[in-house]
Amino acid sequence: MIELKNIEKRFGDMTVLNDVSLSVAEGAVMALVGPSGGGKSTLLRCINLLEVPTAGSVEIAGDRLEFHPGSRISSKQIQLLRRHTGMVFQNFQLFPHRTVIENVTEGLTTVLKWPKDRARQRAMALLEKVGLAHKAEVWPSTLSGGQQQRVAIARALAPSPKVLLCDEPTSALDPELSGEVVDVLAQLAREGTTMVMATHDLRLASKIANEVIVLDAGVIVETGTSRDIFTQPKRERTKRFIATLT
Ligand code: ATP
Ligand code: MG
Repeated sequence: MIELKNIEKRFGDMTVLNDVSLSVAEGAVMALVGPSGGGKSTLLRCINLLEVPTAGSVEIAGDRLEFHPGSRISSKQIQLLRRHTGMVFQNFQLFPHRTVIENVTEGLTTVLKWPKDRARQRAMALLEKVGLAHKAEVWPSTLSGGQQQRVAIARALAPSPKVLLCDEPTSALDPELSGEVVDVLAQLAREGTTMVMATHDLRLASKIANEVIVLDAGVIVETGTSRDIFTQPKRERTKRFIATLT
């Protein structure tokens, strides 16, 4: 479903991702872990092209773009790939002046030009899935953090993206509230949603990731099943890093 080849990302003369290649099969869940500044968020942003890689190629659902230093990629090409993705952020980023259901329908009606009724139907089905149908008409600010993140997940899934990208989806939440977000993501994983998530949350990664990639200073230093990485990491540095996770 996702194939990244030899991705490089530089900011000025700083190389933030160096020769990163990975593939995620349809229905699989990949967790990106590693020290702060290692490049996890940048890698997610290279998948949905919020950041344009300096070199390498990105393929999602059979659509592929290749990047070369100095080459120009049209925004149309970028949109094509980006529409295969939905993104969930650490701090939810809901629209504060829209109700919960409007947050979910917004992209459908404005970007995809769905009729309002159809968009509301889709949004209600998704709110039901994340357990928040009864909150459809309230303002996001009246919800707990865990509820807001569940709305953000419903919003990301609304246009039926091929992959769901999550950047630290539970790290702004205390353990109890993060549990309800983990449960929703676990349910999506069981239903076959392809996901890539950056996380420091051991419970999240070990519960739902099929494969874990350790990114350190922009390089993949270790990859394996969540069991391999969390219980028997090969490298000393990975061991020390895993010990810091909770
Ligand atoms: P964290 O665990 O703290 O979220 P991360 O693994 O997500 O860290 P990134 O946010 O991807 O790390 O950052 C990787 C490196 O890239 C950092 O050194 C960061 O300062 C740098 N970086 C990220 N975005 C930019 C930018 N727009 N301009 C310049 N440098 C950037
Ligand atoms: Mg990050």
